[in-house]
Formats: sequence, C-alpha cells, structure tokens
Amino acid sequence: MKKYVYAFNEGSREVWSLLGAKGENLAKMTRMGLPTPFGFTISTTACQCFFEENEVLSQEILDQIREKIGELEQVTGHRFGSSDDPLLVSVRAGAGFAMPAAGSAVLNLGLNEESVEGLAARTGDRRFALDCYRRFLQAFGMTVLHIPQEAFSRVLQTEGVASGKGELLLHLWTEDSLTRVIRAYKRLMETEGQNGVPTDPEVQLITVISALFRQWNGARARQDDASYQSTQAPWTAVNVQAMVFGNKGKDSCSGIAFTRNPENGEKQLSGGFLADVQGDDIARSAEKLRPLEELRTVFPAADREFIRIAELLEKYNRDMQEIEFTIEDNKLYILQTRAGKRSAQAAVKIAVDMAEEGVIDKKTALLRLNPDEIDISVQENTPEFTRLMEWADDVREMRVRVNADSAEEAAKALALGAEGIGLCRTEHMFLEPARRSAIQEMLLAERATERDQALKALRQYQQKDFCEIFRVMGELPVAIRLLDPLLQTLLPKNRKELHALAKTMGIPVKTLIARIDRLHETNPILGHRGCRLAVVYPEIAKMQTEAIVTAALTVQEELDIDILPEILIPLPVAKAEFKLVKETVRSAAAQCANGAGKSLPCFIGAMIETPRAALVADEIAEEADFFSFGTNDLTQMTFGFSKGDGEGDLIKTYVKKGILAADPFFSIDVQGVGRLMEMAVRLGRQMRPKIKLGICGEQGGDPKTIAFCQRIGLNYVSCAPLQVPTTRLSAAQAAVRSKKSSEEA
Ligand code: PEP
Ligand code: MG
Repeated sequence: MKKYVYAFNEGSREVWSLLGAKGENLAKMTRMGLPTPFGFTISTTACQCFFEENEVLSQEILDQIREKIGELEQVTGHRFGSSDDPLLVSVRAGAGFAMPAAGSAVLNLGLNEESVEGLAARTGDRRFALDCYRRFLQAFGMTVLHIPQEAFSRVLQTEGVASGKGELLLHLWTEDSLTRVIRAYKRLMETEGQNGVPTDPEVQLITVISALFRQWNGARARQDDASYQSTQAPWTAVNVQAMVFGNKGKDSCSGIAFTRNPENGEKQLSGGFLADVQGDDIARSAEKLRPLEELRTVFPAADREFIRIAELLEKYNRDMQEIEFTIEDNKLYILQTRAGKRSAQAAVKIAVDMAEEGVIDKKTALLRLNPDEIDISVQENTPEFTRLMEWADDVREMRVRVNADSAEEAAKALALGAEGIGLCRTEHMFLEPARRSAIQEMLLAERATERDQALKALRQYQQKDFCEIFRVMGELPVAIRLLDPLLQTLLPKNRKELHALAKTMGIPVKTLIARIDRLHETNPILGHRGCRLAVVYPEIAKMQTEAIVTAALTVQEELDIDILPEILIPLPVAKAEFKLVKETVRSAAAQCANGAGKSLPCFIGAMIETPRAALVADEIAEEADFFSFGTNDLTQMTFGFSKGDGEGDLIKTYVKKGILAADPFFSIDVQGVGRLMEMAVRLGRQMRPKIKLGICGEQGGDPKTIAFCQRIGLNYVSCAPLQVPTTRLSAAQAAVRSKKSSEEA
C-alpha cells in the first residue's frame, strides 16, 4: 500500500521532501521531543493524486487519514465528532516553498451546534467554546466558500466587537456578543455559500483539505501566468494538528518570539504575547502585544522552558528563529519555527555573530546575506560589517575596482575597499563651464593652430585632475579612458552659450552655427565617438596621453611610489583601428617620458563594447594589454535598444510581457550579451593567455552579473563608488558558490 499520510513522529529524513516545509518542521520538532501538538501530514504525493483523480481524495487516502485521526484521538484523549468531548484540529497547507496568496488555514475544525455545547460543558467556559466555533465558521467560510474576509469584518463591526478599521476589540467578546456573531455568520454563509457548513467533522475535514489543495493549485496557476518558473515540486502538503488553546482564559496566551532581535540583531529573545487569544489574533488585535520579558512573571514555568527550547531550535536550525507558541492552562506548546525575518542591519550582525560563535562557518555567513538589501549608509561603520568585508576579501577571487571620475569619488571608493579604478571617464571632466568652453573650441576649431591652443588649455585641466586621482590611488591601478563623448552633448546648448563661444573664438555666430551643423549626427551613439575621434583627431589622444603620463611622473616623484596608469581605448571595432590609436598613445607616452628623462610602464587596453570587438577579440588581443567590457554599450548595440533614451519604459513592458527576464542594462543578459562576452574571453585568452579581463558597465555592481563574471573567469569587476562593499560581498558569494558547484560536480 502506498503511503500518503505521515504522523509527525513518522517523518524520517527520506520523506521530508514530501511533507512541505511546515510538515518537515513539525516532524523535526516532534523528533526532538519538543512540546508540539501532535498531528499528521497529508503529503504532496496525496495532493498530486488528488488532481490526477479529478479532484477527489481516493479511498486509500481517506482510510489513511481516518487511521491517523484515530491515533490523534488516542494521544489527546478527545474524540473527533464527539458531541460531549470533541477533538478539534487545525488544518494548514504548507508546500516546499513559499507561494504568495496560497497560505490559508482552518482552525478549530471539529465543532458543530451540538459539540460546541459539549466543549462548553467540558471546559466550563462557554465563552471560550463559542469563540472557537466563531473562528472555525469564519475560516471555513473564507477558505471553502470563498466569502471575502471583509464580509466577516462587517459582521464584527455591526455587532460592535471590531473597530471601524477592522481591529478586534477583544475585551468585548462576551458570550452574548459571540452568540450574536455566530448567528450572523451562519446567515451570511447560507446566503453567500450554497451549502453552508457541514456538521459532520469528517466531512468538514475532507472539504477543507480539498479546498486547500485547490487553492494552492489556483495560486500556482496564477504564478505560472506571470512567467513564474519554479524548479521545485509543484504540490502542497496539508498538516492536521490537534488544537491547543491560547484563548482559554487568563492562564493561556499566544505569542511570537525571535531568538535574536530582528531589528538590530542583538542576541536576546524578543517578541510578544497576548493573554486569552488564539495566534491569529496577534496580528489583528487592537491591543498592544505585551513584551516577551513579561512571560517570566505571568507564566514563569512556561517561560523557563521556552528559553531552553528557543536556544535549542536556533542551534539545531543554525539560524535566528521566529517561533510561534501557545500556552494553554500554563502549559507551553511550540506551534511553528522558521528562519525569522530580519532587517538588513540585523542580518549582518546575526550572520557574523553566528560565525564567531561557531554555529555556522564564515562562508555560510557570507552566503546568508543579500547584497541588494544591504544599506551601506547604515552599516558601513559597524564592527560586524567590517568583519564581514574582511571575510569576503579572504575568499573572493575577482578584484573589485571602482568607476570614478574625480579624486573625491576615488577617495570615497578607496575607503570602501576599492582596489583600483576600473574606469575614469575623461569626458566627465569637462562639465564645468570654463572647461566646457575649451573642449567646444577644440571640437569646433577649423585650423590646427586653433585646435592646438584649445588642447593646451585642456591638457592643463586634465593633468591637474589626473594628479589628484593618482595621489589618492597611490600604487593601485587606474584605468583612464580616452575621450568618448556624444558630440552633441558637448556642443553649445542654448543661444547664450552659442554667443559666448562665438565671442571667445572670435568668429561670427553664423560661422559657428555652420560648423556645429557639420558635426550634427542623426545617430550620435553610433557616430563620431570613442576611438573614432582619436582616429580622426589623433592630437586629442596625444594630448590626453601627455596629461596622463606627466601627471603619473609628477606624483611618482612627489610620493616616491610607482604609479600604474592604464589607458583604455573606447569603442574599437577592429584590430587595425585599435593599433593605430595605440601607436598614437604609445609614441606620445614615450616622448613625454623621454622628454622628462624618465620611463613609465603604461598598459594600453581595449574596451570591448561593440559586438564586432567581441567577435574579433582574438585579433584585438594581439595588440591590447587588457580588455574591459563596456557592457552599457555592448548591451545597447547588441539589442539595438538606445540606453537612457526612453528605453526604460520599453524594457519595463518587455519584462512585464515576459519577453525579457530582467532589464539587461541592470543585470547582464546572459543568453545574448553574456554569450558575446564569453566568446571574447575565450578568443582573447587564446591569443594572449595572461590578458587581464574586467567589466566596467553599470551591470558590474549587480550580484547576478558578478556571479556571471566569476563564471567566465574575469579578473575584476568595476562598479559605482557606493556599490564597492556589496560588490566585494557579491564577488565573495560568487567565489564560494563556484567552488561549491565544482566540488559537487
Ligand atoms: C560602457 O559602455 O559600458 C561604458 C562603461 O561606457 P559608457 O557607459 O561611458 O559608454
Ligand atoms: Mg561605452
């Protein structure tokens, strides 16, 4: 006979995967000997079977459920369906993974008009019995009859036991008000749901189990519509558990506790409880929770046991736990435990503390954190964060550089742990009005002498900027990119600027306009930019090289250290083109150094940011000392989506319609752009095995992209200054995961 139903004390390791996360948890807690109310799990296999058999529970499954109910009766001493001593159960769905909109439960199942009086008589507390019945009716109505919660809330408001906002006013729940509420609920359910509520508890149970299965399946189908892909088992399990009652008077309560503080991560039990309520009231009560510390005075024995168990659960599960508990007549029960939700700040402290306590290893601590959730402004200076960063640096394999265009940005990034500059965009140095005018003069000059004059002015500006950056970065590598502007962004923007420029250049406005018109481009992104500018105007590349080399030599002497400039040539598409510009740079560098009677190693690399560059990367590698993937342009040109040009809305639509999994300007498109990168890496290394490879596009700070860069074997990633710490963490996670997967293979 196939087994579909498992008592909590039967669930061994082999069947845990069939029990869903909740069921597995209950089985583990039962095996640990914790005071968890007894019960059983209807496995995911039963759920699958249910849908294969036209949404009917087979006789075999029903028989197994009856058998387990029998065991539950023996353990609890109450009888399911008895009118004077009824066994009440909770029925909760729980799959292997969380699914939003599929998480409801029916509690206090097993009551009807007759047995509610039996329960009242047995406990001597009619208010309590009515309260249980009222709860059962509502949960059944919502889960099985699909009556919206608001309908029930309206009844509670009409009867005066809930506030206008829907908060429960627990002190007004008297026998009288409960009787009225139950009557009104029944009327509601008879008008809204066709059959009302069955009186036979066995029918109640079967109906609820089937409804939970269907609800799960519906939620899953909706997820599939939204292109949700789950690799996990698609079925849910259902747990049936003997009820314990936190609403049984002043010696009972329900509560929730965290084994560490979920706000700040401090190692202290925290949470709260309410006397005389059932667990789901906690979120809905108008009354404030009493702090957990008060358990000690109100329920001293239960409190001592709880402290012991909380510690045990945390140790066993090796993570901060969020524990739901109930105390019934001063006796403690543990209903559920799971890894607790926590703030980003607490997450860091908890992971680091647990590693230092020896509960988890450092790699596990690193993997516990979500780089996207860390808030640098809050955590930067905490000792735990510093420690975490040290561990990250110990395990990561890729270097982390920064995209910085100024000494201030460089200094900030350095303080955050950057190990070099991956991209210094020189065109950003021309935003200031005086500089802007100089570059305009240079671009719009007609004669070489005019251009030379403008270049001289620019060289002074650049040299100063580079000196400042070199001073900050010291002996760390600094990749400076030759000018890569979109011409139109540098040209006069308005009449005022136009007139001022004409005056400075000493030419009529009309002449200036004619020159500007000649530079007009329909597709500036595909136009006269990147190293194309250096091909047409080698004097610009020459000027920039001189500024870089002179600055490096100056700071080298000043600080008596070795400066490591790397010159990055933007947007190449061919070896011959790259070689031509490289020669301009090399001879300018040599001349400049020789002129100063010095020598300076100078690495010259290629931005791989056009699809053609990726395709002929082996040829370019013959000439290039290193590659830096410019994935902004590479994405832009591979997709033909214009970046920063209203593409945001377009891409959002593409993501919403499931055409793209994510915004490729934010996270590398592994299938397309990633494939080009992989190819360029392979070709580049074929030609030059030791070629240094990095990424400097904006995706460089994204954890998924960083994992991809690790996989294809890049040497470094470069990101925005404030992303440096999370990039260090992401790089560490990528290294740990890649080691893990290679060990598993
Ligand atoms: C790139 O294209 O990825 C890049 C870094 O250059 P930019 O964004 O300046 O074009
Ligand atoms: Mg680019």
